Amino acid sequence: MSRLEHPAEDPADSRTYLLNNRTADRYRSAVTESVARLSDRFATTERPFTGVSVDELAPTVAAVDLDAPLHDPAAALDELERVYLRDAIYFHHPRYLAHLNCPVVIPALVGEAVLSAVNSSLDTWDQSAGGTLIERRLVDWTAERIGLGPTADGIFTSGGSQSNLQAMLLARDETCRRELARPESAKFSTPLEQGAPPSEGARLTDLLPRLRILTSAASHFSIRKSATLLGMGAEAVIPVPVDDTRRMRTDALAAELERCRRDGLIPMAVVATAGTTDFGSIDPLPEIADLAARHGAWMHVDAAYGCGLLVSRRRDLLTGIERADSVTVDYHKSFFQPVSSSAVLVRDRATLRHVTYHADYLNPRRMVEKRIPNQVDKSLQTTRRFDALKLWLTLRIMGAQAIGELFDEVIDRAADAWKLLHDDPRFEVVVEPQLSTLVFRYLPGGPQDPELTDRINLHAREALFASGDAIVAGTKVDGRHYLKFTLLNPETTLDDIATVLDLIAEHAGRYLAEQPVVDRPAPALSAP
Ligand SMILES: *Cc1c(COP(=O)(O)O)cnc(C)c1O
Repeated sequence: MSRLEHPAEDPADSRTYLLNNRTADRYRSAVTESVARLSDRFATTERPFTGVSVDELAPTVAAVDLDAPLHDPAAALDELERVYLRDAIYFHHPRYLAHLNCPVVIPALVGEAVLSAVNSSLDTWDQSAGGTLIERRLVDWTAERIGLGPTADGIFTSGGSQSNLQAMLLARDETCRRELARPESAKFSTPLEQGAPPSEGARLTDLLPRLRILTSAASHFSIRKSATLLGMGAEAVIPVPVDDTRRMRTDALAAELERCRRDGLIPMAVVATAGTTDFGSIDPLPEIADLAARHGAWMHVDAAYGCGLLVSRRRDLLTGIERADSVTVDYHKSFFQPVSSSAVLVRDRATLRHVTYHADYLNPRRMVEKRIPNQVDKSLQTTRRFDALKLWLTLRIMGAQAIGELFDEVIDRAADAWKLLHDDPRFEVVVEPQLSTLVFRYLPGGPQDPELTDRINLHAREALFASGDAIVAGTKVDGRHYLKFTLLNPETTLDDIATVLDLIAEHAGRYLAEQPVVDRPAPALSAP
């Protein structure tokens, strides 16, 4: 086939898709068209989800011929309506109550539009210029809100998991550096050959199996994943028991730290969670800071969820966070930012050197001497989005206090919803929330059958999802299935919550009625 028969291969034609001085109008109309369609969708979406199943949707996506382009943004957006937008999960809907996804603020979306069009890459100054300075201002701003002191620094990351991984890497390498500097550390060496002087490598391999991370049993799984990725194995993470409110028990932490010492293990890090994913519980930070300091352990605070408190009227819930060696914040959770937007902050900027590598083509060492700021020196990533711009425009347009008010509102709502659940005999609720989650389950009347209760709650969640009327999450507590509300939308009213509880009870009741009589608990009236 000749070139001319394939219009898309005409170089002149292909080039009209590139954004540049000649195509600015085309860019404007394509993006305006897509924003117009999306704003219609937001104006008219009545449910968080259509309830479409994988089997229903997969053929629609599979039927698209990726080798037959449409050459028309409007046609592609029509198609996108069918393959994605119609059936997407809409986090802005007041009855989306499932995971830690927030509705997003409009100033951040302006930032998103700008950052992807300009397409700065935040690895080096020569790919971003002002972008680098903006990111650094926001890192400083966040570190100041935390109270990390004059030597603080940090970097934007793709999310809390990456922030936690980087924090654990810094803790590991700081611990190893310190341990290897001890004169007595030589005694742990395993000479690779008889008579050979112990190499640093040999000593490192001795150290790694002795490192331990102490974190509560309710902490995020990314801590265990980090330990595995860092070559320490998931067994390196010691789960510290929690109390009734799902906060780390500091007496148990003290005991575990002592046990490490007795067993010749090295407590590399104590990870406190400021807002556990399931319960929103905030570990006792000041006591944990004392214990970490006493045992020479790096203190990391995972505030992926709780970071919104930094700008809320409940800032005092984070007291003690200022003593951390590192902190994870997810702006894409409680700062109402679009995915992704996260950061890891450190007390001592020198510790970031553990991720610094110099490449001749990118960030040669001489640039450090010339004081050229290359953010790649502090990051696990190389090419990196300018996510910081979203937070910048959010702070410049609406301000930090407005973000804090939104977060405070959902925390207030969760407190009211707790009362609702607590007073409702159909449900059992686990803890009174400090933040904005509620873990609860439907309880059928009559004598309790734990297996049946599990099945009822699993069914209610799935049936609700399939109806598209509302979306709730699920989790396990002490091995049993529970339901979870995560409230991050100030538009969710107490009425919405009551309605969703009724829907859950309806699905649960219908399921119960369909059970064979032997499995059905006796009606409450005949119970003893
Ligand atoms: C969500 C969460 C994470 C993981 O963050 P991602 O942005 O999803 O990678 C880590 N820790 C806690 C406590 C979280 O709630």
